[in-house]
Amino acid sequence: MKPTVFIDRTVPSEVEAKIAEYCDVDKWEGTNRIPRELLLAKLANADGLLTAGSRVDAELLTHAPQLKAVSTISVGYNHFDIDAMKQRGIIGTHTPHVLNNTVADLAFALILGTARRVAELDRYVKEGKWISGAGNKWFGQDVHHAKLGIIGMGRIGEAVARRARFGFEMEVSYYNRSRKPEAESLLGVRYLELNELLRESDFVVMLAPLTPETAKLIGREQFRLMKPSSIFINISRGQTVDEEALIEALQSGTITAAGLDVYEIEPIPADHPFLSMDNVLTLPHIGSATKATRFDMAMLAAQNLVNALTGQTPAHIVPELQ
Ligand code: NAP
Repeated sequence: MKPTVFIDRTVPSEVEAKIAEYCDVDKWEGTNRIPRELLLAKLANADGLLTAGSRVDAELLTHAPQLKAVSTISVGYNHFDIDAMKQRGIIGTHTPHVLNNTVADLAFALILGTARRVAELDRYVKEGKWISGAGNKWFGQDVHHAKLGIIGMGRIGEAVARRARFGFEMEVSYYNRSRKPEAESLLGVRYLELNELLRESDFVVMLAPLTPETAKLIGREQFRLMKPSSIFINISRGQTVDEEALIEALQSGTITAAGLDVYEIEPIPADHPFLSMDNVLTLPHIGSATKATRFDMAMLAAQNLVNALTGQTPAHIVPELQ
């Protein structure tokens, strides 16, 4: 008998076909996220789940007595309750590598967009305010040759560093729990302790995964260390930053601007203070969202799931479940 898989979000037909070669497939076809109650009900007979953000915790697992594997179409897996999955022996996989360059490109969209005030100036032009030359009120900051600090320089961070060093000739520092001597010599990047990185950088890019250790890693104290001219970019997860402290830092001039792809609550509530702040550039969590990369991620997630359910070791089991 074939294993049964539930797919909880829309995926390309090729991805579904790949799973269907080996498994019976049921799927959610709505455009919004599947309601939690329905997801739990759908898992009653499932051996595998293909998802991209649904919380996999003890509650879900009690509703899924046959579940053996969960494959997420994302590199971040903070929605996996690792202890609960370990206890049940669930195989959990993710999609590293294939999205590195795409997410790094988006980091630069946010860096350039905030530094050169692209969204503000777009509004200025479209609202018919460009009557004579744009005055110095609209001047931005240079990205080239500026100092970039990367918090969490892993796969994506290195792709950001490469662009920064060799494209924009920036001075790049990074902070991780452990040093990366190979990256230091190949990319010409410097290791700095977190406080030092915050003090020195013109741009700080947050790319550490969300873990108990990184939750609100950047708060009031950290923003106070940054230069008044500095720009903060978050493309990891919203919860790595204390949003209240960020709002305060932006409103008081402690830092100049922020470029955000991720938020504490997603989708961001319509009355969130960020949405009325000109010095905040907001994107709707689209770091990896190009057609090609999202296709590759979904295909890789499908392959991981098929392998897990057909007795082969998937290539991308999340480290804590290996
Ligand atoms: P990765 O290769 O695992 O890199 C993460 C880096 O963070 C590692 O170098 C790690 O180094 C460092 N790190 C982990 N815990 C840390 C801590 N407590 N303090 C400081 N550094 C720490 O992951 P990746 O593939 O580059 O992805 C990074 C994150 O980007 C994902 O987890 C996800 O949250 C986010 N992401 C967002 C989008 C989006 O759409 N916005 C898309 C893709 C990924 P050490 O272990 O040495 O500390």
